Amino acid sequence: MSDLATLTRALDLEAAGREMHELATELYPIPRSLTGDGVRRTLAILGERIPLEIREVASGTAVLDWTVPDEWNVREAWIEGPDGRRVADFADHNLHLVGYSEPIDETMPLEALQEHLHSLPEQPDLVPYRTSYYRRTWGFCLAHRVRESLRPGDYRVRVDSTLEPGTLTFGECLLPGRDEREVLVSCHVCHPSLANDNLSSLVVATSLARLLARSRRRWSWRILFVPGTIGAITWLARHRDAGERVVAGLVAANLGDPGVFHYKRSRRGDAVVDRAVELALRDRGEAVEVSEFVPYGYDERQYGSPGFDLPVGSLTRTPWGRYPEYHTSADDLALIRPDALAGSLAAYLGVADALERNRVLVNLKPHGEPQLGRRGLYGSLGGGTEGKEREMAMLWVLNLSDGDHDLIEIAHRSGLPFDAVCRAAEALEAAELVARPEASRPAETRNPTETDDR
Ligand code: ZN
Repeated sequence: MSDLATLTRALDLEAAGREMHELATELYPIPRSLTGDGVRRTLAILGERIPLEIREVASGTAVLDWTVPDEWNVREAWIEGPDGRRVADFADHNLHLVGYSEPIDETMPLEALQEHLHSLPEQPDLVPYRTSYYRRTWGFCLAHRVRESLRPGDYRVRVDSTLEPGTLTFGECLLPGRDEREVLVSCHVCHPSLANDNLSSLVVATSLARLLARSRRRWSWRILFVPGTIGAITWLARHRDAGERVVAGLVAANLGDPGVFHYKRSRRGDAVVDRAVELALRDRGEAVEVSEFVPYGYDERQYGSPGFDLPVGSLTRTPWGRYPEYHTSADDLALIRPDALAGSLAAYLGVADALERNRVLVNLKPHGEPQLGRRGLYGSLGGGTEGKEREMAMLWVLNLSDGDHDLIEIAHRSGLPFDAVCRAAEALEAAELVARPEASRPAETRNPTETDDR
């Protein structure tokens, strides 16, 4: 087994981008929701690629302050106009039906129907995405232009859905590492035919998991495919000890549009993952907008609730709500691009590598500079820029390895690539000039009773 950095270097990113887009294309038509067969089918397809455990939690189960809802499935749903033509049909596009619509089979005048229609006057050609998870109703979404063309008369409305006790389904891919403590990657699996939000993340997370599964791992990695909010809450309810196990985490979303990266820091703001993300993007030459944590957005607000306070940030491209296609039928397979997906995968791999290789070291000869030339560590590569970078990296590692600074911080402060800092650290460890602190505890843990090697 190779380490992740080696696997990443060997990766054909262009091919990976194409593959991810193909997988998104396969998943796109499936009608997903908080619960139901669409989520199961989606997870079954992901499970062909990665070791995925499927969990089913019964409706009515109390999870933290919430209750697992009834399961929703749709056989058909449509509206037929006075002339017998269908004006909206779930079979054409699953966004036409409001998520969690209760069954109905009635004929009604247009005025009564209007109360159950949703459209976007500002974007008259697009079908909006609407749900009503916790208030029982039914509704249809359609292009505003179509809505305006509706003639008075009687409309037949049929929603053949079931909304009854069943289960909530989520998937988790757990890849054990040498350390039982975990890095969490979480993405929401509840959105129907919407590509950037959030098929993009399902496919990036799947590719990430596949590479991690083939690599030597220090941390245990847990990739979660959960319905938004209730899924994260259900997982947390079953992992009350998450605070002791999770050393870092990311919520993945909106990873296929061509926009620049956006990183929302963890609630702590200075967790290892926060520094790892900024470093990984810097090393890839990617621009990134960074914002502080706010208790809104995706499931980072659940992982970052004060009772858990997990060090989980969110790495996206254009954040939710900030692109015009967001939550409409225009968030389709044309919006997400193979090269953007590939860049997102590379960014996540960079973060993963930083987390995997980060450590705190102690200089064993801290009084004056140890004589590197005598040990064949200085000038051995001649005067090239690579040799210079290697020497600078060794000097930085020696100088900042006082037990307080980890390799991520050394890379930040020196401006040197993380990989160069890691290679220097390895050379210095081999020469017994630096070592992991005696009875070391990694910077990642805040629990003073925990030790790294058990
Ligand atoms: Zn969304």
